[in-house]
Amino acid sequence: MFLFIGGIQPKTVTLDHTPRLCPHCGLAQARLKRVDDYVSLFFVPVFPLRRGQPVLMCDHCGAASSPHEPYSPHVEEKPGEKCAHCGFPLESTFNFCPRCGHRA
Ligand SMILES: [Zn+2]
Ligand SMILES: [Zn+2]
Repeated sequence: MFLFIGGIQPKTVTLDHTPRLCPHCGLAQARLKRVDDYVSLFFVPVFPLRRGQPVLMCDHCGAASSPHEPYSPHVEEKPGEKCAHCGFPLESTFNFCPRCGHRA
């Protein structure tokens, strides 16, 4: 019989090393981290079991807060040009409408 010393162990991953402003202490020492649950064997994380949510963890005061806008890149809505002939949305680089060939 083998003696297994296994279990589940949390592992903190730093997602972004850029220091951010901590909402608790106001210092720019918070970093975006994520705590994953790992299946460990002999106290060594072997493979990830569950991915945690990204949190802002402060190196200074240790506070964990949810990041304001972690992965929602703001999509810029530009009032794009439209083809005068068929209304197809045109990129400003287009000289001709790709749909109907109308000159923009
Ligand atoms: Zn702090
Ligand atoms: Zn057109």
